[in-house]
Amino acid sequence: MTRPTLAVIGASLAGAKAVEAARDAGYDGRIVLIGDEPGTPYERPPLSKAVLRGEAEPDSTRVHPDGFYGDHDIELVTDHVAAIDTVTRRVELADGDTLPFDTAILATGAEPRRLTMPGAELDGVRYLRSVDDAVRLRDSIHASSRVAVIGAGWIGSEVAASARQMGADVVLTAPAPVPLQRVLGDQVGDVFRKLHADNGVHLRLGLGVQELRGVGAVEEVVLADGTTEAADLVVVGIGVTPRTDVAAGTGLLIDDGIVVDEHLESGVAGIYAAGDVANAWHPYYRRHVRVEHWANALNQGTTAGRNVAGQRGVYDRLPYFFSDQYDLGMEYVGLGDPSDALVVRGDLDAREFVAFWHREGVVTAAMNVNVWDVVDDLKTIVAAGRPADLDRLADRSVALGEVVGASSG
Ligand code: NAP
Repeated sequence: MTRPTLAVIGASLAGAKAVEAARDAGYDGRIVLIGDEPGTPYERPPLSKAVLRGEAEPDSTRVHPDGFYGDHDIELVTDHVAAIDTVTRRVELADGDTLPFDTAILATGAEPRRLTMPGAELDGVRYLRSVDDAVRLRDSIHASSRVAVIGAGWIGSEVAASARQMGADVVLTAPAPVPLQRVLGDQVGDVFRKLHADNGVHLRLGLGVQELRGVGAVEEVVLADGTTEAADLVVVGIGVTPRTDVAAGTGLLIDDGIVVDEHLESGVAGIYAAGDVANAWHPYYRRHVRVEHWANALNQGTTAGRNVAGQRGVYDRLPYFFSDQYDLGMEYVGLGDPSDALVVRGDLDAREFVAFWHREGVVTAAMNVNVWDVVDDLKTIVAAGRPADLDRLADRSVALGEVVGASSG
């Protein structure tokens, strides 16, 4: 009798956790994990932080120790672009090889949006996605006289912070008036504006970029108001798009990612998606949600792998992520909208607080900044889904655990 085959496309964190979980849950068929980069899967959060700054070796980010895949009878195929044929149930590799499969997990992640303006193709214009990008960028930051960071989302904010910590002269520009505005809104985003300013970043916020200029290599950034900023290295962090090419034309539903149900299974039985590429039905939000963060890749990969092994797990975790910039560490739970009302427990100016976003008292998201060991309480408060006592939320003399208990409908 031939063994069934699980094909996992995307040797990402989600892909690596999926194969681990499938084996752990007793899947005893053949497992093939296919990635388009060389080497074993790695985690990305350190790429804009410790790896970029040279404080951690690139190999320290590997998801599994050497030998893990062989020890678990998992075939790792690296450096191969793959696509899926859902009708013949085969994976097609770029070199013409095909791999028949019984079940498949798509964990191809997302890729950086590219600048399209004049000068976008000049040397010295960089994106950060892979571990190789991070290593090259580290060397370039050391060699550059001025770094311009375009985009003040998570990549832009973390790269700007790391580059300053590396001693670089940094200018940060984005269309919004404060960093991270789309997630945190104006008031909390302003905490990050001050943080970068206090750490010596030259801020040109509230302005788009119209052009990059230089002869062969970038020399200056032209902002929407016509003013220029000198820069011989430009790092672009203007968001990502889910890598759905793997599933194009296959009959899988693609709508801001690969659409899957709460079991992470697509409309084609036995084909799952996990991580940044998955637009998954979320039972708590009662809509599809696509999350572009580390914890989601980690946990969805695990759920998809277990489900391939015969479990029928529901993915219902609240979105969670963290960031470190200079001496500020933060965690965020939930799915707020920047227009949600804000309640702050603590001191924004001192950068030591917990922020709660709410709609008519129902907390949609919470973020702890330089306040630790509260994230479980924050998850409980957000998951409660009913109005909280806002005065008690803001009152530091009331333990967060008691606020949870005091929430009432
Ligand atoms: P992002 O967090 O979505 O931020 C994109 C930023 O680019 C926003 O500030 C946006 O400003 C700006 N922007 C968009 N178009 C622009 C343009 N044409 N010119 C200048 N700025 C523009 O995306 P990212 O920072 O590129 O990060 C990539 C992915 O990695 C995201 O999925 C992110 O979640 C993930 N990541 C996560 C972490 C973490 O969890 N700590 C760290 C690094 C990366 P507006 O909002 O004003 O449009």
